[in-house]
Amino acid sequence: MARRREAARGSMPLTELLEAKESKAMSSFGVKDLDTMLRFAPRRYTIPAPLRSLHEVQVGEEMSATVSVVGVTERSMRSRRGSILEVIVSDGIEDITLTFFLAKPHLVAWHRSRLSVGKSVVVRGTVGWNTYANKPQITHPDYEEYEDTPEGLAYAQRPLPVYPLKQNIAQRTMRAATEKGVDFAQYLARPVPAEVISARGLLPLPAAVAKVHLPRTAQDTRDGVAHLVFEEAFVLQAIFAQRRALDARTPAPALQAEGPLQGAFDERLPFELTSGQREIGGQITERVGRDHPTSVLLQGDVGSGKTVIALRAMLRAVDSGHQAALLAPTEVLAEQHYRTITDLLGELSGAGRLDAHADATRVRLLTGSQKTSARRETLLDVTSGQAGIVVGTHALLTESVEFASLALVVIDEQHRFGVDHRRRLRTKGPAGMSPHVVVMTATPIPRTAALATVGDLDVLTLRESPGMRAGVDSFVVPEKSPKWEQRMWARAGEEVTAGRQVFVVCARIDETDEAPAPVILDEDGQISETALEEARGVTATAERLAQRPELAGARLGILHGRLTTEEKQRTMDRVVAGEIDVLVATTVIEVGVDVSNASVMIVLDAERFGVSQLHQLRGRVGRGEHAGIAFLDTRTEPGTETFQRLEGIASAADGFALAELDLQVRGAGDLVGEEQSGLQRTLKHLDVIRDARVIEQAREDAFAVIAADPDLTAHPDLAGAIDNRLRDADPDVERS
Ligand code: ADP
Ligand code: MG
Repeated sequence: MARRREAARGSMPLTELLEAKESKAMSSFGVKDLDTMLRFAPRRYTIPAPLRSLHEVQVGEEMSATVSVVGVTERSMRSRRGSILEVIVSDGIEDITLTFFLAKPHLVAWHRSRLSVGKSVVVRGTVGWNTYANKPQITHPDYEEYEDTPEGLAYAQRPLPVYPLKQNIAQRTMRAATEKGVDFAQYLARPVPAEVISARGLLPLPAAVAKVHLPRTAQDTRDGVAHLVFEEAFVLQAIFAQRRALDARTPAPALQAEGPLQGAFDERLPFELTSGQREIGGQITERVGRDHPTSVLLQGDVGSGKTVIALRAMLRAVDSGHQAALLAPTEVLAEQHYRTITDLLGELSGAGRLDAHADATRVRLLTGSQKTSARRETLLDVTSGQAGIVVGTHALLTESVEFASLALVVIDEQHRFGVDHRRRLRTKGPAGMSPHVVVMTATPIPRTAALATVGDLDVLTLRESPGMRAGVDSFVVPEKSPKWEQRMWARAGEEVTAGRQVFVVCARIDETDEAPAPVILDEDGQISETALEEARGVTATAERLAQRPELAGARLGILHGRLTTEEKQRTMDRVVAGEIDVLVATTVIEVGVDVSNASVMIVLDAERFGVSQLHQLRGRVGRGEHAGIAFLDTRTEPGTETFQRLEGIASAADGFALAELDLQVRGAGDLVGEEQSGLQRTLKHLDVIRDARVIEQAREDAFAVIAADPDLTAHPDLAGAIDNRLRDADPDVERS
C-alpha cells in the first residue's frame, strides 16, 4: 500500500496559520490545511452594481454598489435609548437610505465621520423595505471608503468572494482566512508540472489562487478558476493513466486460441451476428489476446446483443485452456444469464453428459442460496477447472472461491460494480496473473463524460440493435386524469386478451414496510424517502388491479426482493411459461429480464425512478416480435418540471439520447460505478459537460507525464494529490 507521501509543501495546518476562529470556520467544511483551503473556491462573487439596477434587486437579496453620500440625518429612537442614523447615498441617478440603529453615542460619531456628505463608499448589504417611508433601505450595511480616482473606483468595484457558510460563521471570517492563506500561496503543492501549466497558457498556481480569492476583475476570477479546473482534470486523468500503466506491467493470460468452441458456437447461432457485433467482437478478441489485462466497457442499448459478444469472448477463454466468469448484480439475473447461456450453447455446455458435443465445456451457476450439496459440486468444478464458464453474483469474488485458471471476467451492469471488486479480481487470475475484464452496460456514457469517469477503461459501443426487436413507444400518464388511467389499463387488458403479458412496476413492496424496500434504494437515488401511501406497494397494487374491470380474468403474480429465491424463481418460471398475465413487481425486474411475449410496461410513481432505471424498465418489453408500450404513470401534474422530465424520457429515442439527458439532469456522478462516482463526488471545480475540452487536454498531458515517469518519482506533488483524491473518493479502501 502506498503510504501517503507527505508533500513537502502545502500541507501546512491552518491552525498554525490562522486565528482560532478562522481555522475553526474552515475546519467545519473539512478544510484543514493550506492546500485544501486555497482550492476551496467561493460559491460565487458579488460585483458592485450601480444603484439604478436596484429595481432588479429583490428585497432580501444581498447587493453592493459604489455610491457617494448625499445626506445624513440623526434622530433618537422612540422606545429605547440611542439614535437612528440615516445616510442617503446616491450613484448619481438613484438613491437609497442606509439605516443604522445605534445605542452608543461614540458609534454614531464613528459612522458620521466615515460617512460625511461627499464621501465615496462601496456599500454591501441586504436590501430591506422601510415600511414607514415605503421604500427600500439597507440596514447596517458593510461599507468601505474608496478614493475617487479610476484606480480607486476599480478597486472598490472588485468582485468579492462569497464562500459557503454554516451557522455562526461570518462571511468576513472566511474572507479573512483565505486572504491570509494567499500570502503563503508559494508553499502550495503543485500537482501540475510547470511546463504543462505554461504550455496550456494557464496562470501559475500562486497567481491563480490569488485571483480566485482576491480578484480585481471578473476576468481574474475566470483565469484563476481555470487553473483549478485544469488541475482537477489533470489529477483525475493521472489516476487513470497510472492504472493503465499498472495494467501494462501486470501479466495476463493471452487468449489466442481460435477454436473449437467458438467455431461450433457460431455455427449453432440461430441468427447472423450484426456487423456491429462482429466489429466490437473483433476488438475484444484483439484486446484479450494481449498478455496484459484489458479493461473494456462494452456499452450498448438494452437488447443490442452484448451478451452474445461477451459469450464468444468467454468461449475464447475456454478454448485457450482457461475459465471465464459472468457476474450479475442479482441472483435472479444470474439465474437468467445461466439459462440464456446454456440455451445458446446447447450441447456445447454439457461436458460430462452423454449427449454432449465432443468439445463441450461445463457451465456452472453459483449463488448464495444454493443447497450445500449442489454448491459443493459446483465449487469442485470451479476449482478443478472442469467448469469452463461460471455464472454468479458478485459474491463470486467476495467469497473464497478458487478458480483453476480464471482468465476473463464479464460483469453485467457497471453501475453496481465498484473499486473493491476490481481490486479483488487482480488476485483471481492464474499464477499471479490478472484476468481480463469486460463490463457491459446498457447506460451509455457520452464520450467526454466517459473520459472523465471511466477513463481507465476502453469504451466500445454497439450502436445498432439486431432487427428483431419490435421496439417500445412510451407515454406519460397523469394519474389524476381518470380518462388516461382508464385508457392505460384498458390497453393492458387488450394485450392480455391478445395473449401478451404486462409488467406493472411499483416503487416499493407494501405499505407496512418500515423503511422503503431495499431494492428501490439503489444508486439512482431518485427515490425519495417519503413513505408512499396505502395502495402504492406491490401487494396492495396487485389487490387493487384484481378489482379493475379492464383486467378481469387476467392472472396476476407478484415479484419482489423479499420473496425467497425459490419463490422468485417459481414466479419467473410461470411468467416465462405464460401462466402469469400481469406481473406486479419492484425493480427486481429492472435489468435483463427477458420475456419476449411481454408487451406492456406500466411504471407507477414513475417520478421516483431515475432516468436510466426507467429506460431499463421499458427495455423489458417489445423484445420479441410484438411492439411494446411503456406507460410512465405519475401523480405529478402536467407542466411541472418532473412531468416534463418524464416526457423527455418518454420521447428520447434510445439510450444515447437518454444518457445525454441524464447527464444534464444529474451530472455524471450517478452514471458510473461506485468508484468512479466517488471520484466524481469529490470533484469541486470540474464539470464534465462544460469542461469537455479541458478534460481532453488534461488527459493528453497527464498520460504523457505518467508515460515518462510512471512512479512519479520526479513528481511528488502529483503523487500526493493522487493519493489524496483516492482517499477522499473512497476513504475506507486501502489502495494497492
Ligand atoms: P443485451 O445483452 O445487449 O441486452 P442480448 O445479447 O441479451 O442483448 O440480446 C438480446 C436478444 O437479441 C437476445 O434474445 C439475443 O439472443 C438476440 N440477439 C442477439 N444478437 C442477435 C442478432 N445478431 N440477430 C438476432 N438476434 C440477436
Ligand atoms: Mg442483456
